[in-house]
Amino acid sequence: MGTVQCDICLMTSDVVRINDSGVCEFCDLHLKLEDSYPKGEWDKILFKIKRAGRKKDYNCLIGISGGFDSSTLLWFAVNKWGLRPMVIHFDNHYNSREAEHNIRLLEKNLGIEVVRFHVDKIDYDRMNKAFLWAGVPDADIPNDMVMTSLMYETANKYGIKYILNGHDFRTEGSTPVAWTYMDAKYMEDVYKNYALGRTPTIPLFTFREQIYYTLKGIRQVRPFYYNKINLDFWKSNLINNYGFHDYKYKHGENYYTMFVGYKLLPEKFGIDKRIVYLSARIRSGKITRAQAIEKLREEITLPSEVINIAESNKHLVDRRVRDRLEFNRYNFKRYRILIWLMMKLGVVPYTFYKKYCR
Ligand SMILES: [Zn+2]
Repeated sequence: MGTVQCDICLMTSDVVRINDSGVCEFCDLHLKLEDSYPKGEWDKILFKIKRAGRKKDYNCLIGISGGFDSSTLLWFAVNKWGLRPMVIHFDNHYNSREAEHNIRLLEKNLGIEVVRFHVDKIDYDRMNKAFLWAGVPDADIPNDMVMTSLMYETANKYGIKYILNGHDFRTEGSTPVAWTYMDAKYMEDVYKNYALGRTPTIPLFTFREQIYYTLKGIRQVRPFYYNKINLDFWKSNLINNYGFHDYKYKHGENYYTMFVGYKLLPEKFGIDKRIVYLSARIRSGKITRAQAIEKLREEITLPSEVINIAESNKHLVDRRVRDRLEFNRYNFKRYRILIWLMMKLGVVPYTFYKKYCR
C-alpha cells in the first residue's frame, strides 16, 4: 500500500499513523488536548503561580524569541493575568531584524527588562555544522535545546517554580518524530562525530537535568492550551496598534530556523514543515483543507541572510543523508513509566510522552 493522507489534515502515512477511519494520530491528539485543558483549570494554575511567587521578585519565567506567539504570551502574562515574569531571550546570533525590533517594543510597552543570553558563537556554530555534516533532518534542535536548558537553569537560580511556554497546539501543531527528534545524548554524539571526539560546551538539556529540575518542583505550563486566544488577531493587533514588525513566514524571527525550515528540510529531505502548522490550523477550523493545499503551493522568497547561510554551508548541506539511528541516543521507551509520571506532574508535555515513549 502506498502513502495515504489523513482525511482531515495534510499529514501522510509515511510519517504518522493513520487509523482505519482514515484519521491520523495528530488529529486524534488534537481532540484529546482540547478535552484535557479546560478553561476552568487556568484560574487554579494562575493562583498556584502567584502563590509560589509571593514575596519574590518574579513569579514565573518566560522566554521570548521576538516572534508573535511568545510576544503575545508575555503581553497576556503582564497585562491580563497580572504576573511578574522574569523575561529571558536566548540570542543565538541569528535573530532577524524584525525580532530585534519586536523585543525592543516589548520592553518599551510592557516596562520590562529582557535578560539576554548570548551563546558561545563558535561552539554553537560548530554544533549547527555538526548537524549539517551528519546529514540528519534535526538541524535546528540545538536552538530549542539550549533555550530549554537556559530556562530551567535560570528558573532554578532565581527560585522560580513556573516556566510559561507559548506553544499552541491549535496553530502550531506537533512535528512528527520522523522530521524532528530532540535528545541531548544524540546531540552530543552528532557533535563528537564532527568535532573529533570533543564534547560541546554549550548547555544541553539532559534527561538527568530534567529529573533534577522536576524534583526541585519546577513546572512548565502552556497557557494557550487552556486559554483559546486568537493568536492571529493578536498578531495584527501588535503590528497595527503597537508597531511590531511582521516577518513573512512562520518562524521568520530567526534566520537560521528559516534556513532549516524553508531551505534545508524541503530541498534535502523533502520535508515541508508548513504541513505541520497548516494541519493544526485545519484541525482548529482556522482554515479549510483546500485553502491549506493552496497555501502549500505558494512560492517562498527568502531574505538574503537566509540564502547566505545556505551558501556558506553548501559543502556541508550537500553531504549524503544519514539515518539518525547511526548515532547514540537515549532510549526514552525504557523510561516510559518515569516519563508518564513526569507528564502527569505537568513537567513534560503529553505530546512528548506520546511521541517518544509509545
Ligand atoms: Zn490528521
